[in-house]
Amino acid sequence: MTTPGPEVAALRAALRAARRSLARDLPWIGCRDPWSVLVAEVMLQQTSTGRVIRRWGPFLEHFPTPATCAAATQSEVVAQWVGLGFNRRAQSLHRAARAIEDHHGGRVPSTLDALVALPGLGPYSARAVASFAFGRAVGVVDTNAGRVLARAVANARLMPAEAQALADRLVAGVASAPVNQSLLDLGAQFCRPRPHCEECPVRTACRWRREGGSDPARGSAGVTQAQPPFAGSSREMRGAVVRALRDGPQSRRALRARVGTLDGRFETALAALEHDGLVEVWRGQIRLRA
Ligand code: SF4
Repeated sequence: MTTPGPEVAALRAALRAARRSLARDLPWIGCRDPWSVLVAEVMLQQTSTGRVIRRWGPFLEHFPTPATCAAATQSEVVAQWVGLGFNRRAQSLHRAARAIEDHHGGRVPSTLDALVALPGLGPYSARAVASFAFGRAVGVVDTNAGRVLARAVANARLMPAEAQALADRLVAGVASAPVNQSLLDLGAQFCRPRPHCEECPVRTACRWRREGGSDPARGSAGVTQAQPPFAGSSREMRGAVVRALRDGPQSRRALRARVGTLDGRFETALAALEHDGLVEVWRGQIRLRA
């Protein structure tokens, strides 16, 4: 087992002590069903937690197992993705379900190498599934976790490999899921871009708070800029087109009349959806690709 180092050990102890006060009431927390965890992680990649809360349960009612998702058409999966945006993830999830059926006997694989090889699962999502569903001793570094590690442990900007190494040390030799979850909970609620240090339950273990200096989270690994607003964006238009096509194939003219043009973004959105293989022209009409 790797020796955690005093700063890592202090944060780990503080996270474990504050676990209950940090815990968020999210329906997938504590879930150990690998498929359900995998679906949640893919949804959370680019969608706010609030919207994922509304769509996670209904999606799993339609596709409770990899087999049910693999047996569906792509258009059926995309139709159930509505409200989440970035529909290419639905396409990838569908491919992942088919890969699980074809190569893993219908069971979500438990090793990090096999998870990261699935369509649509990047290193973060694969690690999250490995830890939360299978208890693997791997650290999970997203934007929130990266911020906490840079501030509380390093008090320095971190390169991606450095942040990952610290996260892995944080969970070495202990049950990884609760520690990883508390790290994410801390970053989501207290160690925000503008941190709430006075109320933070791990403040006595925080190196940046103790030593001071400029904010080390700025420019650190995994700490991304906020997404541009959804309203008025191309993403909004693509979502509107997919929503309209859930009702069945439509002529280009009817579809344009239904969703509006939004300063010419209709044509751009349609071209992007066609390019991504999400919609197709069929007998002169536009439909979700089967
Ligand atoms: S004390 Fe402040 S900077 Fe340190 S972990 Fe808590 S919120 Fe983040």
